[in-house]
Amino acid sequence: MISTDLSTGQIDSPNTSASQPIFVQVVLDKPLVQGFDYAWDSIALGGTPHIGRLVEVPFGRTSAVGIIIKVSNHSEYDHSKIKKVIQQAPLPLLDSKTLGMLNFASQYYFSTLGEITLPSIPAYWKKPKKWQGLENKLHNPEIRQAKNRGKKKAITKEEPLKPAPLSGIQKDQLNQEQVKALDRLLGDANATEAYRTILLQGKTGSGKTAVYLNWIKALLQGEDEQALILVPEINLTPQLEKRVAEFFPEKRIAVMHSGLTEKQRGIAWQDTIQGKAQIILGTRLAALAAIPNLKAIVVDEEHDASYKQQEGTRYSARDLCIWRAHQLSIPIVLASATPSLETWLAAEEGRYERIRLDVRALSSVMPTVKLVRLPKKTATYANGEAQLISTEVRDAITHNLAQKRQSLILINRRGYAPILSCTACGWLSGCSKCSSYMVLHKSSMLGKKAVLNCHHCGLIKEVPPFCPECGNAELSTIGQGTQQMEDYIQAQWPTAKVLRIDADSSKKSQSAERLFEQIHDGTADIIVGTQMIAKGHDYQNIGLVAVIDADNRLFSQDFRAAERLFAQLVQVAGRAGRSGQELHSTGEICIETRYPDLPVFHHLLGHDVDGFLGHIAAERKEALLPPFSYQALIHAEAKKIDEAIQFLKDLKKTVRSANDFPEGIRILDPVPKAIVRVSGMERAQLVVEGDNRKNLQTALMQFDQALRSRSQGRISMGTRVRWMIERDPVLI
Ligand code: ADP
Ligand code: ZN
Ligand code: ZN
Repeated sequence: MISTDLSTGQIDSPNTSASQPIFVQVVLDKPLVQGFDYAWDSIALGGTPHIGRLVEVPFGRTSAVGIIIKVSNHSEYDHSKIKKVIQQAPLPLLDSKTLGMLNFASQYYFSTLGEITLPSIPAYWKKPKKWQGLENKLHNPEIRQAKNRGKKKAITKEEPLKPAPLSGIQKDQLNQEQVKALDRLLGDANATEAYRTILLQGKTGSGKTAVYLNWIKALLQGEDEQALILVPEINLTPQLEKRVAEFFPEKRIAVMHSGLTEKQRGIAWQDTIQGKAQIILGTRLAALAAIPNLKAIVVDEEHDASYKQQEGTRYSARDLCIWRAHQLSIPIVLASATPSLETWLAAEEGRYERIRLDVRALSSVMPTVKLVRLPKKTATYANGEAQLISTEVRDAITHNLAQKRQSLILINRRGYAPILSCTACGWLSGCSKCSSYMVLHKSSMLGKKAVLNCHHCGLIKEVPPFCPECGNAELSTIGQGTQQMEDYIQAQWPTAKVLRIDADSSKKSQSAERLFEQIHDGTADIIVGTQMIAKGHDYQNIGLVAVIDADNRLFSQDFRAAERLFAQLVQVAGRAGRSGQELHSTGEICIETRYPDLPVFHHLLGHDVDGFLGHIAAERKEALLPPFSYQALIHAEAKKIDEAIQFLKDLKKTVRSANDFPEGIRILDPVPKAIVRVSGMERAQLVVEGDNRKNLQTALMQFDQALRSRSQGRISMGTRVRWMIERDPVLI
């Protein structure tokens, strides 16, 4: 454990005169050990050490980059064996508040401070070989900026993005409802420096963005004050980035997401930590950035699953932002048309404030929802020809085309077909490393050739010319993906311009930007895509949204499936009918389902978000599921599933038998994961549930200790099982 109080940055005032030895504790991106002691040679390093400084230190046979978290004249280790810090980075320090937040995250999410902190620093700054040359560049911002500009130019496309109308809606252009919302957001002028969590619950298209941008503008007083805006995914940022930049012409914007080059990320991070950028716009990873003068936070689309990191330290960016706002005594706005049940309930119970926006800013009508009942048994063939969409959807598309409006076709599988099979022996295209099927992709990936691709481990194989089991030459496909739908739609409407948007067609963020442009500028008539097309975008001319076979998202072991489907459908419906033009004021969403009577569809018909959330809240309360209880997962993976299960069984037994194990904790039996094998490893999990956060945390600390005591890193000794603890999982 770290003895330094990171939240205040207090240290035991070491004597830094030459007569006393100086030791620093450094955190590294390593599991189990919180800090490593090193000696500080003031003469060689040119000055005294500082908490929050990035340094290079010897580690094993090589060296590693870490952060100083403590400075002292003492070390418990044999002084003669302690190695020296090699060099320090000529970068600004991570401020104590940010370190305090990261320290909280490391304790709450059961990782070391280094495991959470180091990955949050862009790779660009973690190359000690380059540090020496950096000093000049850093102190000469003109050079840096000029270079940056050149780079920017190279990546912007020839034709500028067509601006969204009224993209920078100023305060005097807000409608009445927005003005009221803004006034309430600003609240008591004397209480700006206070922690508040506000749910901005506004219908899709109600102008939430304009409200929170104006809020930030009013709030940021001093020139150096900073605001953080989190958005769900990369594909949302290009359009929003432009909007934000136009709205704050006098401010510097730092954009942070994983689609940037290493250097772009490095510069954005540096601008932020130095306080040069006032508006920080980014995805999940920006939640961990050092922002020394943070005054306000917005988490847009707060319900979005992408705020939860699913590898490494599994943190929730939204939850950390709320914690951060509390720590800093600043306000935070959570915006969504479909809040997560957690947030919605907090607003219902008065723990969060709530401000609603109930009317659409441009067209006052919500899109009409139509449920298309599919036959229980899917007839994929009509007149010997594959029929991928229902007659209702077909007619709606034809009608919509005639109106010169765009159609969105949502289908949640990428690739051509989810499975390739043999018509003679029943062989299926299983992945050799995973317990899942390889998806047939018609092109891309390996040039023009069709391939099989596993979406879990990434394995790519050529399509076999014959069945590998029986040699039969007739292989057929099962199910449909976006590529097949694209071909099908194009064949049905040969003169229409059909566009496909999914993870394959938009590998690089630039190409995603270019694809979305074709929707905004009206080039595309029909857009086929995965959930990527459903979120946040402010399209102007969508008349129809068709959701193909909505049911396959509904039936899963995960109790959040209905909540997720509902949010997705409301979001995608919200893409329709957003334009303000008279003729274009309505839009329609057609949803194909075999079960139109389910509550999720019933509430959707009336755009009844509160009704639906109330319904699932009652269900969860009855079943004592989150947010009416708190959960954690212990993950275990091994070569064989039996080993992973046995490991968790033993663990459960050990922890259970400890006499100080807290009350009110339920430890379920270990089970194999829904997809057991991925990349050759077999995976199991154990659910731990508690009635309150505190008891659960105490219990998990005991799990953590039991795991550490028999492990090297995250691998248990003897059994070779890899383990991890996850707090507040969102995928069960
Ligand atoms: P939301 O985020 O709530 O879905 P947006 O903030 O994207 O909605 O706004 C939807 C559309 O309405 C955008 O095109 C925006 O420019 C426009 N808009 C928002 N407020 C106003 C306003 N007061 N007057 C005119 N247009 C507005
Ligand atoms: Zn066969
Ligand atoms: Zn695989």
